[in-house]
Amino acid sequence: MRLLLVEDEARMADAVAGGLAADGFTVDIAHDGQDGLWRASERVYDVIVLDIMLPKLSGYEVVKRLRAAKVWTPILMLTAKDGEYDQADALDLGADDYLTKPFSYVVLLAHLRALVRRAAPARPVVLSAGDLILDPATRRVQRGADDEISLTPREFAMLQYLLRRRGEVVSKSDILANVWDEFYEGDPNIVEVYVGYLRKKIDTPFDRRSIETVRGAGYRLRSDGG
Ligand code: CA
Repeated sequence: MRLLLVEDEARMADAVAGGLAADGFTVDIAHDGQDGLWRASERVYDVIVLDIMLPKLSGYEVVKRLRAAKVWTPILMLTAKDGEYDQADALDLGADDYLTKPFSYVVLLAHLRALVRRAAPARPVVLSAGDLILDPATRRVQRGADDEISLTPREFAMLQYLLRRRGEVVSKSDILANVWDEFYEGDPNIVEVYVGYLRKKIDTPFDRRSIETVRGAGYRLRSDGG
């Protein structure tokens, strides 16, 4: 069970992480909101514990941006009674649960276990184009039955989006809006770069061409898998 703890109070973070590790969680710690957002976008976690008052980016901003980027990892927010916001705000913004500080470790653990259980998914549908197969539940990508392909979370998200719209021309801006978050302000050519990465993994080794470039319009993932 992989857990991301976003908490700027180092002593508290270490104490909680130590307890969780002893209870079988693999814990990553981020000490500010920006780092937390980055980690939560780049790696797959089973659950995130997110403090509200954080340097650089508040917990509210983090949860808002993650949900806008379609990262649905269950989030438990740590709120303060005298804070500027209350628990209702946390839930409105897309958190799944909250705990008010100070809390006991035992209560935190109970909430986390319930959250992970609840999130045990309605299994999403396996997507495919020809022999190219992506299973959102296990996060596996395969060419045929035997060749498993290892993708980064971003590559995975891009392939998932292209597979959902297989056979259609998808513009770069569609891809940006759906695979990066809506606040992304970097170079839109990042899409080309990632299409290149994907081709190197899902096409080149198999001598296939599944992702077509449609000049001036965008990309199309062939329904037959190339
Ligand atoms: Ca804090």
